[in-house]
Amino acid sequence: MNKNELLDLFKEIGVLKTGHFRLTSGLHSEYYLQCATIFENPRIAEKIIAQLQPILPPDVTTVVAPAIGGITMGYEVARLLGARSIFAERQDGVMTLRRGFSLSPDEKVLVAEDVVTTGGSVKEVLEIVRFHGCEIVGVTSVVDRSNGKVDFGVPFYPLIKMEVQTFTQEECPLCAQNIPITKPGSR
Ligand code: ZN
Repeated sequence: MNKNELLDLFKEIGVLKTGHFRLTSGLHSEYYLQCATIFENPRIAEKIIAQLQPILPPDVTTVVAPAIGGITMGYEVARLLGARSIFAERQDGVMTLRRGFSLSPDEKVLVAEDVVTTGGSVKEVLEIVRFHGCEIVGVTSVVDRSNGKVDFGVPFYPLIKMEVQTFTQEECPLCAQNIPITKPGSR
């Protein structure tokens, strides 16, 4: 699957919507990315995640994901690699391993997230993994929409880089054409 085929699939299953959207940031865009939709159909998700196989490093023992968005991503990546799958979640605002999840220093960890924008949650998970003394082999995501701005200090293996162009209302070409705007639900 090349980049265009993947984008076509994203449009087909509703991950990538085209129209005229007011994003959470207040900016306008022709595109809206609803990433949870990637994992709505497990058979399609499996097919998408399988595309990561040639990209990802070998010998990953454990995949750690930030909740909530990363959980299904981490699980699918762990299945692909035959690795263990755990996730971290915020407790009183601090990213933590709960539910009996643990890490030991002999583990080779890949951190998985569905979409990387600022990379904030991933960085918090990397802190936890470092704290446990594990080897960090890298970070993976389905989509990298950081526009190349994110630096995790470890290798980053996104399946696809997407730069979604945004406009202020004043400069929006869709507003100029009087195209009705919609505000999508929870991202
Ligand atoms: Zn607009």
